[in-house]
Amino acid sequence: MKQRAWDEPGAEQVLDGVFRIPLPLPDDGLRAVNVYAISEGSSVTMIDAGWALAESLAALERGLAEAGHSLSDIEQFLVTHSHGDHYAQAATVRRMFGSEVSIGAGERGSIEAMADPAFEPFSRIEQSLKRAGAEELLSDMLAWRRGARDKGPHVPWELPDRWLSAGTISLKSRDLEVVDTPGHTAGHVVFHDLVAGVLFAGDHVLPRITPSIGFEPGGADLPLADFLDSQRVVLERPDARLLPAHGPVTDSTHARAEELIAHHEKRLDETAAAVDSGASTTYEVAQHLGWTRHERRLAELDMFNQNLAIGETRAHLDVCVVRGWLDASEGTDGIVRYTRA
Ligand SMILES: [Zn+2]
Repeated sequence: MKQRAWDEPGAEQVLDGVFRIPLPLPDDGLRAVNVYAISEGSSVTMIDAGWALAESLAALERGLAEAGHSLSDIEQFLVTHSHGDHYAQAATVRRMFGSEVSIGAGERGSIEAMADPAFEPFSRIEQSLKRAGAEELLSDMLAWRRGARDKGPHVPWELPDRWLSAGTISLKSRDLEVVDTPGHTAGHVVFHDLVAGVLFAGDHVLPRITPSIGFEPGGADLPLADFLDSQRVVLERPDARLLPAHGPVTDSTHARAEELIAHHEKRLDETAAAVDSGASTTYEVAQHLGWTRHERRLAELDMFNQNLAIGETRAHLDVCVVRGWLDASEGTDGIVRYTRA
């Protein structure tokens, strides 16, 4: 029998009273985002919410119906982090039914920036590409931005009802431990049900892809160092089934956290080696490295993913500097260049 694809719509029961509901992400390589419905009598607690899109709301309604619920049963959303595919739809459902929305306190900086109607994401991207020596890409980004503006204004993020900090949330049927796992974003949290042995991992531990690092307004100084520390946090806790936000449920958070650490250690070595072979700016190093599972060249990625790749490369370079492998210096042209320490 053919196994059902993880992003097929509907509700998959992953344990007693807990359903995985994949919601669509059109035009996104991630394909879908898993939200999890914890059913307790007539009420539901949701882990993550999906993008605020009509088709996503329809898929959530359909998934909840398969689990014996309707949208109005959603008492609260516990959101792992402030990226739109996890957070945005919580505000939509709150407007309809008054559900309470909670997210990690460390997301405050990003959410308040995004909630500002005058928020201008491009000033930060522009600055970052200039420092990376990626002028070429900058002009493409600026052209795209003009197009994006024609499509409509920035929709401000809404604030949550509650900022979460590490501790225990007692639901009717189970306790969830809120665990700080900064890295993917500065205030990312995961929810660990120790009794059931499952981890609602958001984008901290993904089974098939490596999470992006620090893609947010006003992120941390060393997001990759935070991310690696946060993988160790997972390893120090009891192993659990992995309930990820993208991809299928798998058996072990520990196995995947080990792989993610190994991936980044290899990447750090490759990053320093690229500098040895003559790359000096972030852009040049990114061009030396292979991207995605298929080892594509940077120029083969779309502009949005090239920008992510450059951010990722800088995160690795910064860790190489902190470890004393590389030196960094900013030139009079505003470009940062790296050399062997
Ligand atoms: Zn994310």
